[in-house]
Amino acid sequence: MQPDDLHLHLRDGDILKAVVASTARVFRRAVVMPNLKPPITSVKQAIKYRERILSAIPDRINFTPLMMLYLTDHLSKEVIETGYKEGVFFGAKLYPANSTTNSSDGVTDIRKIDSLLETMQSIGMPLLIHGEVTDLDVDVFDREAYFIERTLIPLLSRYPSLKVVLEHITTKEAVEFVENNKGKLGATITPHHLHINRNSMFDGGIRSDFYCLPIAKREKHRIALRKAATSGEPCFFLGTDSAPHLRNFKENSCGCAGIFNAAFALESYLEVFDQENALDKFESFSSIFGAKFYGLPLNSERITIVKSPQLIPNFLEVKQNDKIIERIVHFHAGKILEWSVVSSYSIVQSKL
Ligand SMILES: [Zn+2]
Repeated sequence: MQPDDLHLHLRDGDILKAVVASTARVFRRAVVMPNLKPPITSVKQAIKYRERILSAIPDRINFTPLMMLYLTDHLSKEVIETGYKEGVFFGAKLYPANSTTNSSDGVTDIRKIDSLLETMQSIGMPLLIHGEVTDLDVDVFDREAYFIERTLIPLLSRYPSLKVVLEHITTKEAVEFVENNKGKLGATITPHHLHINRNSMFDGGIRSDFYCLPIAKREKHRIALRKAATSGEPCFFLGTDSAPHLRNFKENSCGCAGIFNAAFALESYLEVFDQENALDKFESFSSIFGAKFYGLPLNSERITIVKSPQLIPNFLEVKQNDKIIERIVHFHAGKILEWSVVSSYSIVQSKL
């Protein structure tokens, strides 16, 4: 059945227009991250952003963006209550301040949002977490493991019935922690963290195309993630964290963090499941576990995927008034992937 992408960055403007079809042609729904400039912190902003997303989707593709609220130190409880009850917000995203792209307005101290978390717990609104500490005394490769110790364990004990998803997990420690807390905690796993380890960033020179946050870790962590994704455990599900940046912002003396994997995400995951002899577990990971965790109905539409190799192009073009203005590098650029999606998107029956 058609899968959902439960963690996605679509950006805005020309980039949004360039990338959204990549996701919508394969995924039926996607949880859209709110870290725009400025971030999505009000119901009105979310409604407008959703409209911009829907108007950028090619005609007749049936795709539902699930909107997220960006938590800040000073947000009011009313935004949460109204936005969730009116069906605008699907959940809220916790970015520790300065942890990743456009997170400078994020939460500086988790205790400052106690009343917001209490409200979310009481109304059943999910909390999605970028799980990294930002303390300067912590090594960049250890930030996720420290986050679990310093922030996540106390958080889960303070809010035992809050629905929490630890996003884009990258470590063995996170895999074990999620497994030990399944039921109340879920986790998304990206395709790139299943394919690359930290050496990929330094293969013959600095490879900014493989720089993302949380940063790729040692090989033992990649192996743990591959085991988790293909384990058939319902606490692990698909979230690409596809995060497009224009070429000139990646190839730069201070290049941006993020990997654009949306266009061939499913093929990328399938390669891993095939290599791990776990193709029978793929549909659960991509289409069932996430929806069940969030209480969403399962998609009734189906897509067809075949084992047929394809060459991944280097770039996706970004246009302005039909003129190519920039490019975004695909994950797996110039490589061959063994699988191909052949029939994908569902058609809107009656266009509103
Ligand atoms: Zn993300």
